[in-house]
Amino acid sequence: MHEARRRVGRRRARIGPIVERLVAEHPDATIALRFHSDLELLVSVMLSAQTTDVNVNKVTPLLFAKYRGPEDYLAVPAEELERDIFQTGFYRQKARAIRGTMRLLIDEFGGEVPRRLEELVRLPGVARKTANVVAAERGEAQGIVVDTHVRRLSQRLGLTRREDPVRIELDLQRLVPRRDWGRLPHLLIWHGRRVCVARRPRCESCALSDLCPSSRV
Ligand code: SF4
Repeated sequence: MHEARRRVGRRRARIGPIVERLVAEHPDATIALRFHSDLELLVSVMLSAQTTDVNVNKVTPLLFAKYRGPEDYLAVPAEELERDIFQTGFYRQKARAIRGTMRLLIDEFGGEVPRRLEELVRLPGVARKTANVVAAERGEAQGIVVDTHVRRLSQRLGLTRREDPVRIELDLQRLVPRRDWGRLPHLLIWHGRRVCVARRPRCESCALSDLCPSSRV
């Protein structure tokens, strides 16, 4: 690995070309969730835990037509909301988190979704990753989303040696220009799905192979 790291050079010099090439490879890399407001964005991201964005998109058109403001989620019995989000899995926990979040939005934030990361993570069921996704999709990234793809690719590309998502995020924050904090995770996620897959990375057709210490080419 030492030899491989020497071959590709310092990560600080590689990060610019890595981002550029990923943008060229995956110009369509954006969030797959569909939403039309900050509240819909927040609910969509909360529902996307442990399921696919496609699955969430099947549920949300009817959901958002029925629940238009935070108070609407509290105006029905919990069981009704559970039924409405059942298809996304873990529906009891999700319904509880959504209702708790709506309560706090009404009580402390005037019914609006707060903008600062420290405020977002106070909402029930909103962990750092969810808060980072919401902030980034509003064009106000205050951190870097680290999911399973971002973690795997950051490690393979030699951008971090950490295992813990929070420490990986800190490494990436030090390395990646702030203007790229929002789009980098999308690029890594799409590259991770299409090329640098978990079991057998397709190094032979990877645009990053000369910049990657893990390349098998
Ligand atoms: S060269 Fe291989 S290991 Fe490196 S990013 Fe590309 S597919 Fe992944």
